[in-house]
Amino acid sequence: MVKVFKVGVNGYGTIGKRVADAIVKNPRFQLLGIVKYTPDYSSRIAFKKGINIYVPAEKWSDFESQGIKPKGTIQEFLEESSIIVDASPNGKGAANLPMYKAAGKPAIFQGGEKPEVAELSFSAYCNYDDAVGRKYLRVVSCNTTGILRILCVLHREFTVKRAKVLVIRRGADPKEDARGPINSIKLESIGDVSHHGKDAMLVLPDVKIISQAVVVPTTLMHVQYLDIDLGQPVTKSQVIEALSRYARILLVDPGKTGLDSTSKLTEAARDLLRGRNDIYENIVFENTVIVSENNVSLLQAIHQESIVVPENVDALYAVANIKIPFEKVVEETDRLLGIGGLKDVF
Ligand code: NAD
Repeated sequence: MVKVFKVGVNGYGTIGKRVADAIVKNPRFQLLGIVKYTPDYSSRIAFKKGINIYVPAEKWSDFESQGIKPKGTIQEFLEESSIIVDASPNGKGAANLPMYKAAGKPAIFQGGEKPEVAELSFSAYCNYDDAVGRKYLRVVSCNTTGILRILCVLHREFTVKRAKVLVIRRGADPKEDARGPINSIKLESIGDVSHHGKDAMLVLPDVKIISQAVVVPTTLMHVQYLDIDLGQPVTKSQVIEALSRYARILLVDPGKTGLDSTSKLTEAARDLLRGRNDIYENIVFENTVIVSENNVSLLQAIHQESIVVPENVDALYAVANIKIPFEKVVEETDRLLGIGGLKDVF
């Protein structure tokens, strides 16, 4: 009989609510519940959806007075969870770690945490096998996940020597009405490089990855330009064929489909009735794939709100130490989330 692991999600914002829904779709895991800190609209919606809500003991009556009946306290959440997905705001995961350690519970953290929060920074296409059986993993950020999927596929197939990346980062998520910029293109970092390349090198240490990033006034998706040197000459068809074999990478031809912007991609996700308009796949604009001897460059769009959801589910398989091979884990995660289904549409 398949063992079912009870997963608790601490932090129910952009990432937490999506990971919680992905857990509900996966029969290997049971969503124990979520931790909410304020009885706001998303607590109310989660409660209406029948999700168990755990709250800080001192806030119990705040929730009850809003008609939200908590399932338990954070202490009970810690006791009842087999694995915790921490999707708290940047830096709070590190503050939560001692609590997980005291309860003896494994945990999966997000990319807004410093790498030291976990034993390993994780991206499934790169280091799934190394992650199996670990107690604490950190799923790298949305941009780093987008970069690493491409680099690790090409590294597996042809060996990557060096990559330069330009990240054009969305200014805020759609719900974040207090963030910007509103009318500017701003450097992400005042250092010499952005953090994405350094972060990617934690996962892919034998490749030199340099990144720069600017932040732009949009909420829909990031766009990234990758310039990659391989260890051998390749042809464009070899590159396209290699990328096409991985369901989390979707090649889209804007000339054929008209999909030449993040807004049209978002509209397509809406039309396809993807939950929350989520696009779990790297959208590689096929026309931009340029290959010259051992150099490959391309442009891709990354839906920041959902791109890390499959990797969070894979991370659960690794931490739960489920004895099935990497290919089967990814295939299962993808099938349950409907990843790969857009290939027929685009
Ligand atoms: P968010 O602000 O949308 O949600 C965070 C949730 O955590 C909120 O509901 C908040 O109330 C709750 N919270 C507050 N204090 C908490 C605590 N002490 N412990 C647990 N939860 C607490 O944030 P998000 O965008 O979902 O980001 C979560 C993590 O995921 C961050 O590390 C972020 O860098 C990373 N991430 C975000 C995105 C994105 O595009 N939003 C993409 C990839 C990774």
